[in-house]
Amino acid sequence: MKLLFLSTFLCATASAGVLPLVNGSFEDGLAGWTLKGGQPEMAVVDETAASLGKKGLNIRDASEARWQLVSDALPAKAGAVYALTYWGRSTGEPGAINVSIAFLDAAGQVLKGGTIPRYWPGVPVKTQGVWFGKAVAKSVAPDGTQSVVVSIAPILRKPRAAFIDDLRMVEEIEGEVLPPRVDAWLAEIKADPTRGAPSPAVVVKLDDLGDRRGKVHDRWQRVVDFAHERGIKIDLGVVANSLEGDKPAYFQWIKDQRATGRVGFWWHGWDHAEWKEGEKRLFEFGGTSYEHQRKHLEDSQRLAREKLGFPFVAFGAPFNVTDATTVRVLGEDKELRVWMYGPPDATADKIVLGRAFAVNIEQPTFVANYPEFIEGYAHNRGAGYFVIQGHPMQWNDERFDHFTRIIDFLIGQRAEFVFAEEFASRPELAGRAAR
Ligand SMILES: [Zn+2]
Repeated sequence: MKLLFLSTFLCATASAGVLPLVNGSFEDGLAGWTLKGGQPEMAVVDETAASLGKKGLNIRDASEARWQLVSDALPAKAGAVYALTYWGRSTGEPGAINVSIAFLDAAGQVLKGGTIPRYWPGVPVKTQGVWFGKAVAKSVAPDGTQSVVVSIAPILRKPRAAFIDDLRMVEEIEGEVLPPRVDAWLAEIKADPTRGAPSPAVVVKLDDLGDRRGKVHDRWQRVVDFAHERGIKIDLGVVANSLEGDKPAYFQWIKDQRATGRVGFWWHGWDHAEWKEGEKRLFEFGGTSYEHQRKHLEDSQRLAREKLGFPFVAFGAPFNVTDATTVRVLGEDKELRVWMYGPPDATADKIVLGRAFAVNIEQPTFVANYPEFIEGYAHNRGAGYFVIQGHPMQWNDERFDHFTRIIDFLIGQRAEFVFAEEFASRPELAGRAAR
């Protein structure tokens, strides 16, 4: 049940030195920005596009015109590393808008070849749906650099639509780290907790429940005890081959916890397997046959009924990897009604709950991270729901502490903690998922 550990962002180099980018928040309209080509109505500043603050950049362009929105230039020096952070949300064609760093020479001409391979000077707006995602572009200033600008421009000749907000540029300095601005984000949240929307519904999606020699591990017991203490609901993903064999204590524990009404159980696959066949990487629900996937679902539901007395109603795939076969197989099971992190365009007649990548317990995977959560939450206030994922078996005391702070923060925001399967039985919740 291990995921590949993605360490890229953990060991990212230190950063320090915030550049005085003018109006990177668009709170002052387009002051500090120049539109080159295109028509003014393609890029306007309004409240619908706000992530932090009251305003953001709303791009809506059905033309095939080439244009560019360029920031005022900032002094920069050759050899220094610059990192640009922005928050974006695509409302139309994914990847249609690129946000990038450009370096200029003394004559104001754009310089090329400044980056080294592991850096990306531009990142397209990728996040679709209702949540803003954070993107970071990075580049090394080439020889001849006098200044640096931010450029926002279309990269595809298709309808383009995106919300962009909260740009920030820093010069990275080795050995220096800017502390997370948790107090500023909390103040922003306090000033306008939900942007006029109801408090969010929150599914606490905890993955990889199985037994240890017929018993439940202390780390699961700790997280369940905490949920009872706080009076909240948490939702545990069962790897269903743990239901094989004779494990009365484990089965009774699940039944007892479910009976409290505080602990839910959903289907997290049969064996959570991933393997290689030649060069091809396969997953339980990625690249395998219809027969394979169907048997895993049928065996899981049969054992759930036999051993626990109920079928699974909600699903979340191991590794969140699924394919077209999964859509077909899930579509054939009428008891499963809710699909967490499923593809929005392939619903298999299920209620699909999306993933706000920036609003999650763990960043990166396995590392519960309170500051990152607060940042993502501040940028996504007003969303109807969040499904936040965690892996309690990977949490030492420090990670568990971050988890409890995230939950206590959400309690303070009057979040309603729900089970994923409630989206199938409560129309008000289903409406939130419909977007
Ligand atoms: Zn898992």
